[in-house]
Amino acid sequence: MTLAHEQTPRGAVLARHDWTRAEVAALFALPFPELVVRAALVHRENFDPCEVQISTLLSIKTGGCPEDCAYCPQSAKYDTGLRAEKLMSLEAVLAEAKAAKGAGAQRFCMGAAWREPKDRDLEQVCAMVEGVKALGLETCVTLGMLTEPQARRLKRAGLDYYNHNLDTSPDYYGAIITTRTYQDRLDTLEHVRAAGINVCCGGIVGMGEGLADRAGMIAALASLPRHPESVPINMLVRVEGTPLAHEPPLDPLDFVRTIAVARICMPGSVVRLSAGREDMSEEAQALCFLAGANSIFYGPKLLTTPNPARDRDMALLGKLGLRPMD
Ligand code: SF4
Repeated sequence: MTLAHEQTPRGAVLARHDWTRAEVAALFALPFPELVVRAALVHRENFDPCEVQISTLLSIKTGGCPEDCAYCPQSAKYDTGLRAEKLMSLEAVLAEAKAAKGAGAQRFCMGAAWREPKDRDLEQVCAMVEGVKALGLETCVTLGMLTEPQARRLKRAGLDYYNHNLDTSPDYYGAIITTRTYQDRLDTLEHVRAAGINVCCGGIVGMGEGLADRAGMIAALASLPRHPESVPINMLVRVEGTPLAHEPPLDPLDFVRTIAVARICMPGSVVRLSAGREDMSEEAQALCFLAGANSIFYGPKLLTTPNPARDRDMALLGKLGLRPMD
């Protein structure tokens, strides 16, 4: 069912599902302070603005992916020097999850570089989900496209969240990925929803897209029948060997704008400041928190790319007076 409006967790703002691209583009065009203040107000109406949700992401099966996502060092189509690895053992994954919990993570996300999981691999991932949940962590996996029965199997294992990003606007999508369609992605999201699993879905900026594409991406996310519970907004990490290795860097203020617009359009979603923080100044990250970001990936690595060290992140949160979400 598509709801035009939906109550957000604190019930303060009605979440709209009928955002037009023109309306979203108009938000991007606001003067920067006006946009950030509006986003900050929406944030306060729906969340404690001093709380940040902390997730840790582990690559449980690295590299050798048959897809051609132009930003991704794990695609087998690009020579990035990354060594492909088999699916990790259950014991090794649980050891990482325990360490993440000990370091303060609330959610443990596991990523596998597959086009879609084979059923026998899915059984192993389900055992990982059960084991991680038993440690008292929330679970999230990202495994590529899913069929409806596979989504139901993950739900039975107790999975809390499934990540599957829209990546960019429908218009720019063909410049980034050719091996699966936008509709394939929407279908997987529908299967995840139908199985009763929370959705984690966002995108990447800095891939050479224009402002209209950033607006198109947020409009696509905010027009889903239900807003994703988690919305990761990633800054492109330029990896040598991928087609996007030499993209000019995105102005950090444009990244902050994207966070602010996501916050306004999806008021009840947790907006995650995701990849790209390693190269982001503390000031830019502080602006992102002000503009409504309320989640980070925590830990020295994001799948295969670097992320700030844990002590640096804790120092930044401390400096800003932010605390981990309960
Ligand atoms: S983003 Fe995912 S699907 Fe695309 S190439 Fe990388 S691992 Fe494969």
